[in-house]
Amino acid sequence: MRLILLGPPGAGKGTQAQRLVEAHGIIQLSTGDMLRAAVRAGTSVGHKVKDIMASGALCPDELVVAAVSDRIDQPDARNGFILDGFPRTVPQAEALDGMLAEKSLTLDAVIELRVDEAILLQRIETRIADMKARGEVVRADDNPEALKTRLAAYRAQTAPLIDYYAQRQVLRTVDGMAPIPDVTRAIDAVLGGRKAAVGG
Ligand code: ADP
Repeated sequence: MRLILLGPPGAGKGTQAQRLVEAHGIIQLSTGDMLRAAVRAGTSVGHKVKDIMASGALCPDELVVAAVSDRIDQPDARNGFILDGFPRTVPQAEALDGMLAEKSLTLDAVIELRVDEAILLQRIETRIADMKARGEVVRADDNPEALKTRLAAYRAQTAPLIDYYAQRQVLRTVDGMAPIPDVTRAIDAVLGGRKAAVGG
């Protein structure tokens, strides 16, 4: 099974992706996690994106596209994957279409977690406070200014993908404001009991 999770920062993509990984034996591919790992490791990609990420803006398409293409060629992606945080721009979505076609792969669904934007900031601020309370290190972009930039980037650059995938008839929208288990059930329902593909 190959899925995309679409939704603004704080919509719960990571939480639901984790659950889908366990239920379907597929991998979660978070471009945010991949880029943060590159920053931590101090790779050349990491150097390029460090300041961009801290500001809350999006990294260059070509860099993210190349990273995803390499990653889905790995053996552990054979059973399928959930893209979390990718694509985030129309050019990225077009690049993904191209790479999937080249690899003879198709998308099963694009799941949009629809949330009320007015409460997103609140949600993320609560998440940051909880992390601090647990003594965890908060992300460089988890501050009010970068959060506003992340939400603005979503609105301007990523929200157009809702139409992009609706036109291709793969978009499935669920209510991301419901309690976590209800969101999970709603995702299961839109996937219609689909099982992970076995083997190649
Ligand atoms: P969020 O929790 O805000 O959805 P992510 O962890 O997915 O954040 O991404 C954090 C940051 O990593 C983004 O603000 C951006 O700088 C960079 N990033 C992640 N995915 C992409 C992408 N597909 N294209 C460009 N930049 C990306």
